[in-house]
Amino acid sequence: MSLFFRRSWALGAMVVWMVCGSPVVALAASLELSGSLQPGMAVLLNVKGFAPGSRLTGTLDQESFPITPQGQAIVALDMEKQPKNVTLKVVITPSSGQPETLTRTLEIPKRQYKEEYIDLPKKKVDLDQPDMTRANQETERIAATYRLREGRTGFEKGFRQSASGRFSGVFGSRRILNGQARKPHNGVDVAAPAGTPVITMAPGTVVLAGENFFFTGNTVVVHHGHGVISLYAHLEQMKVREGEWLEAGATLGTVGMTGRATGPHLHWGVLVRGARVDPMGLPGIRP
Ligand SMILES: [Zn+2]
Repeated sequence: MSLFFRRSWALGAMVVWMVCGSPVVALAASLELSGSLQPGMAVLLNVKGFAPGSRLTGTLDQESFPITPQGQAIVALDMEKQPKNVTLKVVITPSSGQPETLTRTLEIPKRQYKEEYIDLPKKKVDLDQPDMTRANQETERIAATYRLREGRTGFEKGFRQSASGRFSGVFGSRRILNGQARKPHNGVDVAAPAGTPVITMAPGTVVLAGENFFFTGNTVVVHHGHGVISLYAHLEQMKVREGEWLEAGATLGTVGMTGRATGPHLHWGVLVRGARVDPMGLPGIRP
């Protein structure tokens, strides 16, 4: 067969494909990230150009993550992730035809955090046995919400800042409490007058409304689906109940100083499948 004939056959096939407009032939699937990943950061992943009805699965540094049928996911790295190259991989399995794999290598830089010195009353730092038992039970109730993965998602349209005010505690700072080194600060503190409204950072389901916890006081935890969790601590009032679905911008409580707090402020923490991330670095939020 001459080259001419082969070429005309190929042209003919292309014309047939264009006329039929077959969406099954998804040749141009691609990955789009809302920002660059670094330790303590979450970004929105958009998978584009795949055939409707395909099954999508992803891994980041060999850890799997879910993707919505529309091709969206939140991917994140924990605040203490060591700098190295990581691979982002998405497998698209169409309802008929061969699976397609998209990969991208991401270079993860080192992130520096500040040191913060805090002094608190001794009883609030060196807990006696009853306080310790109570605090451990409360911590376990919070930790149980961090293991959630199922349910309705509410992160697709990005995030909002949950309270406005002065930033009195930054994300990731190495905390030295009464001279002893403690875990890094896994959220941000927003100082604001008691009673200032606190809104949910995105639509989601209230999975915990804990009263007067030893450390975090009145505590609300919202699950935004796929293991994307937000925590709001030291609230004066809680205005939601467990199981309730919150729409974008819904008020969940007010700023207070319940629990271990030296003044009225919101402690706002975010986890993505266990990875601690900076709420102020979420897609859609810019300080
Ligand atoms: Zn805090």
